[in-house]
Amino acid sequence: MKFPTTREGQVVALEQAIMSGTAPDGGLYVPEALPSFTTADFDSLETLSDVAARLLQPFFAGSSLETELAGICSAALNFPAPLRVLEDNGPGLSVLEMFHGPTAAFKDVGARFLAEAMVRIIRAGRYAQPPVTIIVATSGDTGGAVAAAYHGKSGTRVVVLFPDGRVSPRQQHQLTCWGDNIISLAVRGEFDDCQRLAKEAFADKKLNAAHNLCSANSINVGRLLPQAAYFAMASLEHYRQTGDSTNFVVPTGNLGNGLACVWAKRMGLPIDRIVLATNANMTIPDFLATGDWMPRVSRSTLASAMDVGDPSNMERLRALCGDADQIRKVVSAYSVDDDLIRATICDEYMRHGIAWCPHTATGLHIYRQLPRHERAERHWVVVATAHAAKFDTIVEPLLGIKIDPPAELAELLDWPSRFETIDADLGEIERAIS
Ligand SMILES: *Cc1c(COP(=O)(O)O)cnc(C)c1O
Repeated sequence: MKFPTTREGQVVALEQAIMSGTAPDGGLYVPEALPSFTTADFDSLETLSDVAARLLQPFFAGSSLETELAGICSAALNFPAPLRVLEDNGPGLSVLEMFHGPTAAFKDVGARFLAEAMVRIIRAGRYAQPPVTIIVATSGDTGGAVAAAYHGKSGTRVVVLFPDGRVSPRQQHQLTCWGDNIISLAVRGEFDDCQRLAKEAFADKKLNAAHNLCSANSINVGRLLPQAAYFAMASLEHYRQTGDSTNFVVPTGNLGNGLACVWAKRMGLPIDRIVLATNANMTIPDFLATGDWMPRVSRSTLASAMDVGDPSNMERLRALCGDADQIRKVVSAYSVDDDLIRATICDEYMRHGIAWCPHTATGLHIYRQLPRHERAERHWVVVATAHAAKFDTIVEPLLGIKIDPPAELAELLDWPSRFETIDADLGEIERAIS
């Protein structure tokens, strides 16, 4: 399959869409068409890796990665993604636990898939010459997932830029514990400064020529495609048990996770309603309410991985669906402020004895707020996007308990941390990577 951009610029091959991240016309790469599936196409496919290999086959057809797809899926998607039933009265409520990967957030899915795909593209030597240097600006979860995914991968080096003093202690550890081919840089400034530096680096011809710069940012189509697979897997699991489709509540920031759910639905998977849960950053709910797209600067909230005031993937959703009226037919969106996030973490712990992260709490709150008849009409799945132990400094004081990190995260926390602190200046990056 070929990949045009949302702005109808140049059409590129899958490999090029993956290696370049953003398109030269400023738009985002999208698949030229979404294939159609029936549930029977997935008969006997149960694991995330097997479902992904089937679902993504049409996107990889005709590319040099076509025969590698199954290998990419089994190497990248080798951790559990259980659908945990929380309530089974009536159609019930489940939580799709996307935090059992190495860095305990769903970002592992996209980052690991992208790394496996890129390494194979680099090895083939046609679209990029090794070694490549991947620059990633992060406000927390993305950088850790990307560093973990590329750590020790030959032909690659990763530069992680994070805002000094503005990520949680455990997140910072995940950004800085790697060494080897991972360079961690704490930037004196905000996340926006990190993002600006990354953009400046990509725009600098000399730096690009010297280091073969590549991006692994969250708008890379190679990160979005595999995310559609967990919505497919969860909806198929429910369909096999009940013969019915599933409604989803998706915690949303940059709208990657939500868009992947829309893609899965459009490809014919048994998905009915899609409800987006945002934090106090209300750009998407406001757009659906008023029809006016008004991006703004992001606000800091407890669900920090969703602090996005100008969600990039709306451009893809608009390219797919059309104007606000059309988009409203596919998704709805509601905002949850910090007080409600705190209250929900406490309420859910009282209800089921489970501690959820602040992002997952936005989704659970939206589910609880739905009118009773909507909850009674169909099974709902709330996507659990990160493990509560990653946000221990928020969740532990609220609940007055200690939350043990999952085994893989605990292991990382034992590794020594090393990083350099730099000014928000491109020269500093040039020096650090030369
Ligand atoms: C990135 C992230 C989100 C938001 O996902 P988007 O694809 O940006 O909408 C939600 N929760 C967690 C834990 C995340 O890391």
